[in-house]
Amino acid sequence: MAGMGSPPAIFFASPGNTNLRIGGFATAIRKSCVSRACQSDYSRRLTHRLMSAPSITAATSATCWSCSAATGGAHFCPACGKIQPLPRGADYFAFFGLPQKLVIDLADLEQRFHSLSWKLHPDNFVRASEDERQLSLDRSSQLNDAYRTLQNPVARVEYLLGLAGMRKEGQKKQQAPPELLEEVFELNESLDELRDARESGGSAATMAVLREKLEAAQHKFESLLVDVDKELARVSSEWDRALDSGADDAAKKKIMERMNEILNRRSYVRNLVNGVRQELVTSDS
Ligand SMILES: [Zn+2]
Repeated sequence: MAGMGSPPAIFFASPGNTNLRIGGFATAIRKSCVSRACQSDYSRRLTHRLMSAPSITAATSATCWSCSAATGGAHFCPACGKIQPLPRGADYFAFFGLPQKLVIDLADLEQRFHSLSWKLHPDNFVRASEDERQLSLDRSSQLNDAYRTLQNPVARVEYLLGLAGMRKEGQKKQQAPPELLEEVFELNESLDELRDARESGGSAATMAVLREKLEAAQHKFESLLVDVDKELARVSSEWDRALDSGADDAAKKKIMERMNEILNRRSYVRNLVNGVRQELVTSDS
């Protein structure tokens, strides 16, 4: 992605998301610590994490903190085997040793996840230095976040766009995409009718008719959501082909803009579907 601006340093160098990091960190410890000793160590480590950054986690160069060999951003130093801090600008794809492609073999990803989670597990670092134990916690935490994100095809696209600074929510979030205007108008009308009937104690027959109308709309929008996901999958493949063929930045940017639009449409339609579901549940009770 040269020329599109270097990706933001998401892990250590981003000062704005401390809560996010600590949150992910805490979750990772709870998830990854099975031994009693590890669990009891939890709050002390969290405090440590909050109060001070260990010196070696602040290292940003691609050389080993212990033996100075080049690490190339690997999890472990190829020369001495010591666990390494995450390099500045590390991303979830690189974390798994994957290119920034959007069509991912989930079985392969899962295998990478299990292998890394075994290698990085804090239990392996019980006798290591405090700093190395911290690195194992940091990497384990990142591993969980990275896996959760890349596992999901929508989150994966969101993430890729975020890395490139290309994820832009619709400016008028409440505004329907033009091609859906008519259907959304009808849907809102049905929703209003159902609410009115409920509040004014409409007859069972009236309610049934209105519910049926709304259920039909719900199915329509649900199938639309399926279409949107298919479209996202198609453009995702297009992105991969562009990378393979060495497309220029302008071409890649165009694909990203399209993905961003699809994501906005998706979130709009998903909100509609959720709203209808909610209304049907309410009117049922
Ligand atoms: Zn080393």
